[in-house]
Amino acid sequence: MRGDLLNKDTIIAPITSLNGGSVHVIRISGMNAIPLSNRFFSKDISKSPGNRFFFGQLVNEQNKHLDDVVVFLYKKPHSYTGEDVVEISCHGNILITEKIIELFIRQGCRLAEPGEFTKRAFLNGKIDLVQAESVAALIAAKSDQALQNALNQLDGKLSEELKELRKNIINSLSLLELNLDFAEEDIEVIDEKEILNILQKTEEKITVLLKSYQQGRLLQQGITVLITGKPNVGKSSLMNALLKKDRVMVSEIPGTTRDIVHDEIYFNNILIKFLDTAGIRTSGDKIEQEGVRRAKKLYKKADIILMVFDISNYFSKEDNYILKIAKKYEEKIIFIGNKYDLGIKKENRFDNNKWIYISAKKNINIQKIKDTIIKKIHYNESNELFLNNERQYKKLKEIKETITKAKKVLKSHLGYEFVSMELRQIIDILSELTGEITNEDILNNIFSQFCIGK
Ligand code: GDP
Repeated sequence: MRGDLLNKDTIIAPITSLNGGSVHVIRISGMNAIPLSNRFFSKDISKSPGNRFFFGQLVNEQNKHLDDVVVFLYKKPHSYTGEDVVEISCHGNILITEKIIELFIRQGCRLAEPGEFTKRAFLNGKIDLVQAESVAALIAAKSDQALQNALNQLDGKLSEELKELRKNIINSLSLLELNLDFAEEDIEVIDEKEILNILQKTEEKITVLLKSYQQGRLLQQGITVLITGKPNVGKSSLMNALLKKDRVMVSEIPGTTRDIVHDEIYFNNILIKFLDTAGIRTSGDKIEQEGVRRAKKLYKKADIILMVFDISNYFSKEDNYILKIAKKYEEKIIFIGNKYDLGIKKENRFDNNKWIYISAKKNINIQKIKDTIIKKIHYNESNELFLNNERQYKKLKEIKETITKAKKVLKSHLGYEFVSMELRQIIDILSELTGEITNEDILNNIFSQFCIGK
């Protein structure tokens, strides 16, 4: 079924970035990759067993020298795509790269679509869909952990786990069907408890994976931390302290940081993107009002909010207004009492579990903020496998819901054929997840998110 969706033409694309670099690599994949390369390359590569590289000259139809190149030859099925593949490493000049690609296109090759090499790897059975998706995740990974996770998925760890779940469901289904076959003879061969047990275990495993999604997504993309509070409480100073450099202008005049600036650091191998907002205040200033409106929008978007107050001063109307807004987002807020070095006004003493007293200026307790951020996202370094892909998340959620239904039907004794229907449904969704059941639309949707040359 997968093979039916495979285009038989030969495709070409640069697989390295064309912005700088001393070498560009162009990949050609398909049945004409070797004969065409052979025609324009100074050495005969057609008789090679593959997995070899050659140094020589590449020429065009008029025998004009295009470049000195290294040609890597892979014979099917021992290549990334599973097809005959030639990779040409030329000098890193876009003009040379374009001339080579144009030559092959004039000879009947087609420019590869985004993700088409990986799509072919999938269609030729080299990898399953979950592994194909991990290629995109591997390239986009923004932390060591995300990188390791994508590598684990590419190696098939998630696919293995899904295979195991599938095997268990198929076993349960066989038991049920066997019982249906013997139904008329009144022989009870089924062990309901065993099936319930399998369903329960499958459900638990899926729940663990589903729970890892939030973390996997954060690791993959980085965490957005919003710094907010009224003007002059020390938001810019705090951001500088967190970033350890003078990134934002620190000023005595309230409301100077109007633009939402952002900077990034790696902390515990996780990318943290800091956003600094215009101070929340209730003035009539139009520019400031716009800043406030944008800040509120960011409350929703942020993974963590650092809400900054000046605890060396009594709480004002504006502080109370901000605390009121905070109620809605409390679970992602870390309350920061800044200017601790100036002492605390008695009225400002709050629950120590929720508040961190700091001095942005004197660098007191800045590390505690970072630690609290990591704690708040429930980052667990020992986790081996995270879900980081929305499609996979939705499919697993569907499976979990179907398992719940299957359990209910089984317990209600409505008839094993109904349980059997649910189990078949689970197997189908698992097949969609790994790509055993697929269609052009699903594939286009997945691979169009890749870049050209992947
Ligand atoms: P923002 O408007 O909230 O971004 O506040 P800024 O970071 O611009 O700081 C406003 C003023 O408070 C500046 O004069 C800072 O030097 C001062 N400030 C910031 N943090 C502290 C602190 O921890 N202690 C003291 N004493 N002053 C601070």
